[in-house]
Amino acid sequence: MILRLRSDADPHEQQKLVTVLRDYGLEVTVLAHGGVPVIGINGHGLPDAFAEDLARLPIVEAVVSIGKPYRLAARAVRPEGTVVQVDSVRIGEREPVVIAGPCTVESREQLIRTAEAVREAGATLLRGGAYKPRTSPYSFQGLGERGLELLAEARERTGLPIVTEVLDTEHVELVAQYADMLQIGSRNMMNFALLRKVAATGKPVLLKRGFAATVEEWLLAAEYLLAGGNDQVVLCERGVRGFDPATRFMLDLNAVPLVRQLSHLPVIVDPSHGTGLRELVPAMSLAAIAAGAHGLIVEVHVEPEAALVDGRQSIDPATLADIVRRVRAVRDVIEEPVMA
Ligand code: PEP
Ligand code: MN
Repeated sequence: MILRLRSDADPHEQQKLVTVLRDYGLEVTVLAHGGVPVIGINGHGLPDAFAEDLARLPIVEAVVSIGKPYRLAARAVRPEGTVVQVDSVRIGEREPVVIAGPCTVESREQLIRTAEAVREAGATLLRGGAYKPRTSPYSFQGLGERGLELLAEARERTGLPIVTEVLDTEHVELVAQYADMLQIGSRNMMNFALLRKVAATGKPVLLKRGFAATVEEWLLAAEYLLAGGNDQVVLCERGVRGFDPATRFMLDLNAVPLVRQLSHLPVIVDPSHGTGLRELVPAMSLAAIAAGAHGLIVEVHVEPEAALVDGRQSIDPATLADIVRRVRAVRDVIEEPVMA
């Protein structure tokens, strides 16, 4: 059962209600950062009369009924949408967010030069992997904690908040000490222990879609984060496995308006992994925004040809500047809401 509270609900009344519900032995989740406060009650077979009593409480705006396996992630919980705030950057509003940076932190020079260049190009968040999920155990695995230190230095120099991937439960605390937003990679979307641990940090989360995950599985992965009390969740479509090796993945832009209809969480698109080919990144960036995405995450390298990881899909900073300019132009001509 989900209770949507009034936006002006007194926090003391809210706390009292939560305490009473917990005293009844109910499992209760409170979501309070991304919009209207919401209380999730995880209980089966609660009597109708109980819901009716709760609906009459002055701080309760509505008891929301949801006929979906995911509940807290469902659009009906916050029809107006959730806003995720990473430092001073707000994701989920009309201004598209552009997260950019290298696939992987390779060296101090590479990262700082790229960070400064993406800031100049108009990015508002910096990405970069310190722990990399590589298909082969013999491929470069990232710089680890040294990479996190370099990201912190890049943030200091540019003022850009940092987004970086956390690969396993063992590193959650360490990565959370450095990162402004924690990325859960495609290969880890269903790592439920990791989802629970990341939720508990309270940090904003970028949840990539598993490349063989259905939209419902993706939203259920988001549900783990929400059920852990963290509503600072941004969904990221990054392409699914297709039949055609002409592109690395098949960027499922259907998922963007679909997920906006199904969920209140913001959704962004990764045209770099979604295509695997840098020539396709500008077109698919614009298409993503036209489809209603709240932003992009793009791999950028000062010397794409020399990138240690994902060079073929990395663009240079000049191309990013061009994308940022054209994304704004697309944003200006599309009307909200994008879906019918
Ligand atoms: C990445 O962002 O560099 C990455 C590994 O992405 P994904 O998890 O989507 O493959
Ligand atoms: Mn990559």
